[in-house]
Amino acid sequence: MSALSVKKLTKKYANGPTALKGINLEVAVGDFFALLGQNGAGKSTTISIICSLVKKTSGKIAVFGYDTDIQLAKAKSLIGVVPQEMNFSIFDNLLQILVNHAGYYGIPRKIAFVRAEKYLKKMGIWEMRNQPAIRLSGGMKRRLMIARALMNEPKLLILDEPTAGVDIELRHSLWRYLKELNQEGTTIILTTHYLEEAEQLCKNVAIIDHGEIIEHTDMKSLISRLDIQTLILDLDQPQRHFPLLNHFKGRLLDETSMEVEIHRGQSINDLVHLLTQQHIRINSMRNKTNRLEELFIYLISENKK
Ligand code: ADP
Repeated sequence: MSALSVKKLTKKYANGPTALKGINLEVAVGDFFALLGQNGAGKSTTISIICSLVKKTSGKIAVFGYDTDIQLAKAKSLIGVVPQEMNFSIFDNLLQILVNHAGYYGIPRKIAFVRAEKYLKKMGIWEMRNQPAIRLSGGMKRRLMIARALMNEPKLLILDEPTAGVDIELRHSLWRYLKELNQEGTTIILTTHYLEEAEQLCKNVAIIDHGEIIEHTDMKSLISRLDIQTLILDLDQPQRHFPLLNHFKGRLLDETSMEVEIHRGQSINDLVHLLTQQHIRINSMRNKTNRLEELFIYLISENKK
């Protein structure tokens, strides 16, 4: 049995596009799964249908074996969802929001208060518990949405772009927390634009493009298909020439920055080691292009062949 099984799912919006063209997805119990895709690919539609926020046109969905056409309430009780849009009453205080939400699942108030304390503390917003949600910063609102999604202690947690617009520090703390939840047994599905996010967190991945799944594989083999990445290095000291770096190719961009190609099988550690041997120190390092964009372009072109 899968945590989630989606078969031949289609969605045609009234007066709109065919957003999903018969997609299949299998997410194993305990998996950390990424649904990757560019804007408009169909990620939110997929998630909204799984959570029964949007009606499907056709297809089958099962959550831990429960068919959403037949046992919707049971399926829903196993899911926690963190949508992209904030959808709580901003005038309610945090405790109210969580306890009311638990009410929809028939969770007794006493238990709801215990859980609300646990998850507000986990999310680092316990001290704000009696404040109306309107007082929260954007990052805090996001954490509140996650705390709320955990109130029914879901076996499947679904997050739509959980770190969009979130600063780096919060992003990393959310990643740590999601990893922890997954290690404790929660199956997690997230949608993201960020390959780095998927790479850091996810074991398996599906890529959706124009309503079709063009790749459904494990994260490692997907990443290994990225042949070359180009790194930009900012250097500590000005250089006159691109240094001799054995098999690493690249060029100086200006005196204190250079780009280097890392091919499949080459290691960034080796590069750093070679530079260190020549007393060249790196201040910072980043990818030249968004690797996810490169990957999409590659996969979409492969798919069209
Ligand atoms: P993603 O989440 O990957 O950005 P979406 O699932 O939001 O993609 O959108 C998929 C396609 O469906 C897009 O072409 C989008 O414009 C369209 N779409 C999404 N929601 C609606 C809607 N409520 N009505 C009509 N079209 C929609």
